[in-house]
Amino acid sequence: MSSDCIFCKISQHELPADIVYEDGDLIAFNDIGPQAPTHVLIIPKIHVPSVNELTEDNCDLVSKLVLRAKAIAGDRGLAEPGYRLVMNCNAEGGQTVFHIHLHLLGGRQLKGMG
Ligand code: AMP
Ligand code: ZN
Repeated sequence: MSSDCIFCKISQHELPADIVYEDGDLIAFNDIGPQAPTHVLIIPKIHVPSVNELTEDNCDLVSKLVLRAKAIAGDRGLAEPGYRLVMNCNAEGGQTVFHIHLHLLGGRQLKGMG
């Protein structure tokens, strides 16, 4: 837990969020500024700032995020039409919240990456 991290606070229920799934390892909630009809953020409960801090010891969390995104997408009927998973890293990658998170975007035709 990082005391000044908004996603740590959401995962500890210290800040409100529109939570769509939670278990012991991760929490998923609707993005506050959705870019698609489905725009869910899936985050680990432990504080890892970005992909740059992933190691052999903590990288299992990434597969948990991806599998949960797959499950949420499937529940919403997005498996067949498709969806996008995005993980931004640091400033030039477009990361604005420095607690690792996976974006799940779907429900409309998504254009190329910009
Ligand atoms: P990124 O730019 O990849 O770091 O993504 C951060 C995302 O977090 C953005 O899409 C924001 O809209 C979203 N966001 C920021 N604060 C909140 C919040 N309090 N609740 C939900 N989503 C948030
Ligand atoms: Zn955090």
